[in-house]
Amino acid sequence: MQSLLTEQMRLLMIVVLCGLLWSLESVVPLYRFQNSRVRHALPNVALTLLLVLTNLALSFSSASLAEFSVRHGIGLFFIADLSAWSQAVLGVLALDLFAYFAHVLLHKSWLGWQFHRVHHSESTVDVTTAFRQHPGESVWRILWQLAAILIFGIPLWVVIVYLVLAGLNAQMEHANIRMNGNLDRFLRLIVVTPHMHKVHHSRDQRETDSNYSNIFSFWDRLFGTYTPEIDFGKLRYGLDGFDDKERQSLRGLLKMPFISYTRA
Ligand SMILES: [Zn+2]
Ligand SMILES: [Zn+2]
Repeated sequence: MQSLLTEQMRLLMIVVLCGLLWSLESVVPLYRFQNSRVRHALPNVALTLLLVLTNLALSFSSASLAEFSVRHGIGLFFIADLSAWSQAVLGVLALDLFAYFAHVLLHKSWLGWQFHRVHHSESTVDVTTAFRQHPGESVWRILWQLAAILIFGIPLWVVIVYLVLAGLNAQMEHANIRMNGNLDRFLRLIVVTPHMHKVHHSRDQRETDSNYSNIFSFWDRLFGTYTPEIDFGKLRYGLDGFDDKERQSLRGLLKMPFISYTRA
């Protein structure tokens, strides 16, 4: 599995899906934004490149930790003699649960929110928003992945499978596409759909403080943070006080965690 999902193959999958969703956004958009799509995408693409670099720089730590835990039999998964399939399913679930916790804390802690505002200050959410995150947030998320690897003893190939699924679903859930209501309701029994994640990007904080799940939607139901439906006619993306051009430039987004602004 590891040899199939090389870094290059994973990047190629991301680029191909991005192209497909970008095209689909022209055909069945949820919103028709007035701004230039290409100009809007540029800082997001730059942040995506920084995310790739951060992940590359820190990928050795996940690999070493996963190898260490397997070699020494460290982690909850080693209590039972799990098959490869069980390891995959439980490993992906564990990593996604930890991603949920990491995300909730990005909202609930002062420092986490300083960094996570970069993602939420997006006023025209589309596929390029998927990886619009500050490198500081990327490091935080990787630390939670490392914690999951160590606590559960997740093998590296399962971590890679999870990262592929999480990357592809992140693009799906941010894509500016209108989904069939029945299909959306069916899919979100298991996974986070584009309509479900859009609620989390609402400018209304009561809606922002819900739908934190990453791949699997049931974490929000389990922890009581689920908002099922909102009126897409009234939904507004973004954060008050962060709309101006300077703050939305790449420089402004990189500086955003280090400026003080209190939410009203
Ligand atoms: Zn968030
Ligand atoms: Zn998002």
